Amino acid sequence: MEKKDWLRVWKQYSVEEIKKSLLIIGELSADCYACKELGLHYDSVKECPNCGIPFRFVTSRQAAGNAPSRYRDVGRITSRRGDLIFIDYDDFKKLTGKSQAYELLGGEPPDPHQPNL
Ligand SMILES: [Zn+2]
Repeated sequence: MEKKDWLRVWKQYSVEEIKKSLLIIGELSADCYACKELGLHYDSVKECPNCGIPFRFVTSRQAAGNAPSRYRDVGRITSRRGDLIFIDYDDFKKLTGKSQAYELLGGEPPDPHQPNL
């Protein structure tokens, strides 16, 4: 088989939609972003045992930043959970940080279609 390398593909999603269906994988176990339930088994969990949301997206704190190990982490997770869409942790944190700041100010988040944010 031809050798494959990792590269990120850009796609538009609603952050609100991701917030309601995101599994975040930490060092030892995973947690539900929506209700912060801890200790989930990322390789088998289909929905949150606490709040009941179905997981559609997955991300990993270990794959944040530029750690060389992130390729191994992303590879391990995507091979076990091909049913979930892997999103970049840094992208997600950036978006949620921004929308939280704007919510606190009572305003609308900036239009992502506009350049120079
Ligand atoms: Zn939950």
